[in-house]
Amino acid sequence: MDLTVLFNLSYGLYVIGAKDGNNTPVGCIVNTVFQITNEPNRVAVSVNHENYTAACIQNLNEFTVSILTEQTDPAVIGTFGFKSSRDINKYESTPYTLIDRDLPVLTENTAGWLRCKVENKVDVGTHMLFIAEVIETGRGSGLPPMTYDYYHKVIKGAAPKSAPTYRAPETEQTPEAASGEKWICKICGYEFAGDFEALPDDWVCPICKQPKSAFYKA
Ligand code: FE
Repeated sequence: MDLTVLFNLSYGLYVIGAKDGNNTPVGCIVNTVFQITNEPNRVAVSVNHENYTAACIQNLNEFTVSILTEQTDPAVIGTFGFKSSRDINKYESTPYTLIDRDLPVLTENTAGWLRCKVENKVDVGTHMLFIAEVIETGRGSGLPPMTYDYYHKVIKGAAPKSAPTYRAPETEQTPEAASGEKWICKICGYEFAGDFEALPDDWVCPICKQPKSAFYKA
């Protein structure tokens, strides 16, 4: 079976927001938010069991979706996609607001947000599939939403291993890398093409904020 055919399915990038038992806002990145019916407006979201946010949604039965755009700061993806809300409050470094003074949504460079009430949960093994009704929406900046393809090809970011669509980093040659070196972040898979040695010592990965030492030469 040719699994690369699956790479042709398209996805977006979203921050799923919730809160834990201490009322601390939690969140994580997913690429699977699908509208599955319009009467009522209903979406399905797949979240890895290992994500703290999945456990919080299980208790809360509500969550928000912040729709990321092509202008989303890569640091947001680094924080929400490659760190855990068990360890840090991800919202301390990211502009956000609490919808109805309750659940967090991001406020910078988003295409809008949804507030969703869980109707059904399906344990699909590594992931929990939440089926939820959209009960409130908010407009964003009007910027184009980030597709997973754009994130992969333009930002050159990778999926964390917890993503349903995780694929091992590729070693394909990009045009700018063909004439020079390519360095890859071992944490998030971000590819740097160019003079890596010339970067300042305090340079960090634009996606996950790891230091230069986290990169290897491809
Ligand atoms: Fe990185």
